[in-house]
Amino acid sequence: MNSGFPGTSGFSLYAFLTAAIVLACVTTACHQNPKTEIVRVAIPTNDSIKVRYAKEMVDNKKDPSCGMPLSAGIEDTVHYNGKVYGFCSKECKDIFLKDPKTLAKNAEMK
Ligand SMILES: [Zn+2]
Repeated sequence: MNSGFPGTSGFSLYAFLTAAIVLACVTTACHQNPKTEIVRVAIPTNDSIKVRYAKEMVDNKKDPSCGMPLSAGIEDTVHYNGKVYGFCSKECKDIFLKDPKTLAKNAEMK
């Protein structure tokens, strides 16, 4: 009987891979577009700027876009040229992404 279905094990592997890829995509999409987080971040008081990334997690000391020391808090990060750049805000990250080559020089790497 089984010899009639040589593709069975291959199919379940395929299904597993598909599920894994879909899961990975969902996870990534969630990470890049965190709607609930946007709502939370939209109420900024100076003290509540959450340190979502520890400064130990990034390779720069200063926000390359605005020059602010990252010890004040890191809102977002970018992987660029094998390094992790931290930013005080999403806006600074966006600015950096428009011209990373130039702005990376301001980052004061560790
Ligand atoms: Zn900044």
